[in-house]
Amino acid sequence: MKTVNHWIGGKTVEGASGNWGPVTDPATGAAETRVALASVDEVDAAVAAAKDAFASWGTSSLSTRTSILFRYRALLDAHRDEIAALITSEHGKVHSDALGEVARGLEIVELACGITTQLKGELSTQVSHRVDVSSIRQALGVVAGITPFNFPAMVPMWMFPIAIACGNTFVLKPSEKDPSTSLRLAELATEAGLPDGVLNVVNGDKVAVDRLLEHPDVAAVSFVGSTPIARHIYVTATANGKRVQALGGAKNHMLVLPDADLDAAADAAVSAAYGSAGERCMAISAVVAVGSIGDELVSKIVERAQKIKIGPGNDPASEMGPLITAAHRDKVASYVTGAAAQGSKVVLDGTGYTVEGHENGHWIGLSLLDHVPTDSDAYRDEIFGPVLCVLRVDTYEEGVALMNASPFGNGTAIFTRDGGAARRFQLEIEAGMVGVNVPIPVPVGYHSFGGWKDSLFGDHHIYGTDGIHFYTRGKVTTTRWPDPADTPTGVDLGFPR
Ligand code: NAD
Repeated sequence: MKTVNHWIGGKTVEGASGNWGPVTDPATGAAETRVALASVDEVDAAVAAAKDAFASWGTSSLSTRTSILFRYRALLDAHRDEIAALITSEHGKVHSDALGEVARGLEIVELACGITTQLKGELSTQVSHRVDVSSIRQALGVVAGITPFNFPAMVPMWMFPIAIACGNTFVLKPSEKDPSTSLRLAELATEAGLPDGVLNVVNGDKVAVDRLLEHPDVAAVSFVGSTPIARHIYVTATANGKRVQALGGAKNHMLVLPDADLDAAADAAVSAAYGSAGERCMAISAVVAVGSIGDELVSKIVERAQKIKIGPGNDPASEMGPLITAAHRDKVASYVTGAAAQGSKVVLDGTGYTVEGHENGHWIGLSLLDHVPTDSDAYRDEIFGPVLCVLRVDTYEEGVALMNASPFGNGTAIFTRDGGAARRFQLEIEAGMVGVNVPIPVPVGYHSFGGWKDSLFGDHHIYGTDGIHFYTRGKVTTTRWPDPADTPTGVDLGFPR
């Protein structure tokens, strides 16, 4: 059995807690890998390594940091295929999708390569007689990242490249369901010349997470995962005086207006709902059809969905892979089997699907539910699987009101040919990321990613300018250099006017 350990102080550190978790290949169901689950002491060792490294990394020159990041970028680029294969072996997503995730992570490394221009301070001269004011941003110290299973490369790369470029050191606690990618990312960082202890990976579960949330030497916590855990992270870590950004779950809606190109909308709905088997926080899980287009749109979605090829992620013919675990597959299936009793029309039922030769894989087919009531479980919950709900409304206003009533506010999209309606939607919709004829509006690296409402706890979105602000704190210096010719002003107890 393969063992996945920790990466602390620039080297592999074997798990010593005696606790292990299973890592399964979702396409075969085989659990031939186990991951070390860290004890409090092991988390403390990772934080101590990061704290030691901060003493010199925090004051290293910008050119030292960026030259390492440029080398890291080149190494990641050279290892794209290998990293994508590793993702597929533990997550299950198809290779092309895994390559896309690596590319989106690389985008953030590229942003970090340009930190020199992003970290420039500000200077105002002569704000008063011979007085100048400058603003700079400085690193926080040791920061931690806790990441979900669904993007084992991209989500860690949303965090640590920017954090370390800003001069922090980092402790990453990846998902215990697919932990190997994070270790490979850390090994490559060391190969690129990153000093030992600047980036550490500690594997584990709630024990490790809760220790990071309370550790006195951890200054800030970035979290991405489900809403209940995001809330726990935010409440606990802020109570312990830490800066926190905690990104949670989602239920992303796509509003389709009667004037939309219905073929383009159906293409987008199928790609965004079933890509990565629906295990994306930006997946479209609810389509809201306005006016009389519902039947035509549903039949176009069905026509496309029926052609999707499901199979192992390492088969180039596969378009959709398995779900992460058998337990998750069964939970997703329960929403489909219970849908009719709660008032939905089950148009496509993907439950019971299997792939020949891979019968123990965590398979489920594509499901489509129509006329979904807003009080049904399938609508209310984040299913996180290949299940698309369709809802019908009469007007744009009704659609926006329905969408804004959702407790989630991550991504959203409108499909229309009407620029005025799209503009209005952009202003009226309560979500952090909006797509206009773009179903998955994940912002590029130099804009920030984040939702509203129960999709994000904290004030900062992740990466982009918000990411840089999250990983730094501001300092303002007011300076007076008197001229020898100045006459002393004398004592003045008044506040400067
Ligand atoms: P999860 O919340 O179960 O786990 C995320 C992390 O939290 C993991 O590292 C896990 O070990 C840890 N964790 C789990 N339970 C914990 C507990 N009780 N106490 C402390 N730590 C705990 O999420 P997941 O199933 O790995 O990922 C899927 C979820 O992540 C979905 O809800 C999805 O929408 C969300 N997600 C959100 C975004 C976003 O940007 N908003 C991006 C990706 C995924």
